[in-house]
Amino acid sequence: MAKKTSSDKRINVLVVEDEESFIDALTIGLNREGFDVTIARDGQQAVSLFAKDTFDVVLLDLMLPKMSGLDVCRTIRVHSEVPIIIVSAKGEEVDMVLMLEIGADDYVTKPYRLRELVARIRAVLRRREVHETAFEVDEEITIGPIRMDIDARRCFVNGEEIKLRKKEFALLRLLLENPGRVLTREVLIDRVWGSDYVGDTKTLDVHIKRLRTLIEDEPKRPTHITTVRGVGYRFEATKP
Ligand code: CA
Repeated sequence: MAKKTSSDKRINVLVVEDEESFIDALTIGLNREGFDVTIARDGQQAVSLFAKDTFDVVLLDLMLPKMSGLDVCRTIRVHSEVPIIIVSAKGEEVDMVLMLEIGADDYVTKPYRLRELVARIRAVLRRREVHETAFEVDEEITIGPIRMDIDARRCFVNGEEIKLRKKEFALLRLLLENPGRVLTREVLIDRVWGSDYVGDTKTLDVHIKRLRTLIEDEPKRPTHITTVRGVGYRFEATKP
């Protein structure tokens, strides 16, 4: 069957799933859609396969033998930004905040339709591609009034340069790279300050506050960097 992706590269999917009935159907279905499928039947196998090979996307069941899907996700995220789609069983309590915190990109609930799953996979890949292209080709991010020149480490608001400190630059960049997406406090601290950061978490709020004074029309009523109460922050892709 003809591939539906525009590039020649086959997409490598790591499917972490312990139910045989799902494994067969998924493998056949995803192959037909032009994906290469590798199966891991438990959490430990998933981690060791991931360490050995390169995957474009991970489809991760939550309830797994030996190691839970959440722990697999955490382990992969220590070293990799690979898109991860969590698969949960119907009726299973899914904590969205927790999943975002540990770095999952999306989730689907069983039973799902293959078509839906494929659409989700393509969406996370596209999102990733957009970001990679932004670095490789332009090395520049422009959203709304903000333009960021990654290489030169310069940032402009409505054409006027603003001076950002290193962490502020990293933080704003991360937000701009994920427009419209909620980034949890943990993820922001992790990616900007490093996972071994042990300082005060108020540091994040101080940095957000300063960014707001630089980029918002009314820093006390922000329309670009908004607070998602109890979760984290989001860069609004479009101004309300
Ligand atoms: Ca399972």
